[in-house]
Amino acid sequence: MLSIFDIFKIGLGPSSSHTVGPMKAAAAFSGCLNDLGVLPQVKRIAAEVYGSLALTGLGHGTFDAILLGLEGSLPHDVDLETLPERLEHINSQAQLQLNGTHTIDFEVARDVVVRYSDSLPKHPNGLRFIAYDENEQSLHEQIYYSIGGGFIVTDEQFGKPPTDAVSVPYPFQNMADLLRICDEEDLSIAQVVVQNEAAISGEKPLAVRRRVAAVAQAMFDCVERGLQQRGVLSGGLNVKRRAPDLAQKMQALREAGQLNTHLWPMIYAMAVNEENAAGGRVVTAPTNGAAGVVPAVLYYFQKFHPLAAPRAIEDFLLVAGAIGILYKTNASISGAEVGCQGEVGVACSMAAGAFSAVSGGTTAQIENAAEMAMEHHLGLTCDPVGGLVQIPCIERNGIAAEKAIKLAQLSLLEDGFNKKVSLDMVIKTMLQTGLDMKSTYKETSLAGLAVTLKQKAVPISVRVVEC
Ligand code: SF4
Repeated sequence: MLSIFDIFKIGLGPSSSHTVGPMKAAAAFSGCLNDLGVLPQVKRIAAEVYGSLALTGLGHGTFDAILLGLEGSLPHDVDLETLPERLEHINSQAQLQLNGTHTIDFEVARDVVVRYSDSLPKHPNGLRFIAYDENEQSLHEQIYYSIGGGFIVTDEQFGKPPTDAVSVPYPFQNMADLLRICDEEDLSIAQVVVQNEAAISGEKPLAVRRRVAAVAQAMFDCVERGLQQRGVLSGGLNVKRRAPDLAQKMQALREAGQLNTHLWPMIYAMAVNEENAAGGRVVTAPTNGAAGVVPAVLYYFQKFHPLAAPRAIEDFLLVAGAIGILYKTNASISGAEVGCQGEVGVACSMAAGAFSAVSGGTTAQIENAAEMAMEHHLGLTCDPVGGLVQIPCIERNGIAAEKAIKLAQLSLLEDGFNKKVSLDMVIKTMLQTGLDMKSTYKETSLAGLAVTLKQKAVPISVRVVEC
């Protein structure tokens, strides 16, 4: 059974599949060399990058992420402050500390091999690492795939169920299971998830809640950083960071009594997604491209909702995480597989269900909110301009955050029992819609707004997108 901490991973922008995943793969490989006892014999590493990772890697920090991963850094703990200095050191000295302990020569131009026109067979985001000894003999070799949302698998693991599955007290495959468990055991969704997470991690429920609170804090930090950073995002589109100015204008209007709080969730989400596009510290929710929706709704809840309290904030993420698990288990959270409905649509569904829950919603109302949020994202394509996670992604997160709150509020006005469409039905429909979707609308930047804007004017190179 998946953990909610698989859905909410503290990492860095701009991409869960193109930054977080490659860093984890490189760190896994260097750790593996240590476990095999061959680390001291390694003279050189070749990092081969394929398909979508090759095409977009430079603009999205994939190659830098690999260097840092080879040194043993992981997305959740890499120090973003010292990152430019470390990269400068590796490049200028042509050396890196493999697994943090063993110095090897490393020339990026020679040792990062970018296979622009090749793909590995199982997924567009492929990497192969090879460790050589002083005689240029291979000591160890491994293929990894970065399969979306920061998840990585080895070639051997691809498509197989995890072998280290832990049994949990309340296993659920779908929403029907979850509703039945809550009803039979007289538990809330948050309580079910806490018990399962305690079994998965071997921790006490209180420790699980502490970890959830740390995720919430990371989200809040991201919103607050995003509200302060100005400037232009890198990548060539010349997109200005808008969240700080918009927040200032909103505050002024509010103080003048001319505006209520309605637009705040939109601005909080934009703050997170601008931070993501700038390579800052973000939490996947469920991906980097869709990382603004859940934090925005949660930040809005803790700032403005009368029921906001530390436990309710934890419950929000426990419920949102459970809904994310349903999508990951039964459909997809990858734009490459099902379009943006699987990223921003899923994030909206998670946030709507969670907001309903912490506003006092019953399990039926929570389900209804989550279902409506996906129902009205069905068919949403992925067409980011220039392959960057900026246009339309930043505003799109804001709109989804607004929508999540409205649908949660709507769910609370009814009992949730008269609906025609269940959450399980809409998840199944989302998957089928994604499979039917033309491939140019799934992380290629070869259709939609990406093409229209390119035709219009700007010298935007079309790249394969990552999110
Ligand atoms: S449009 Fe594509 S790149 Fe942008 S948020 Fe949606 S899935 Fe991610």
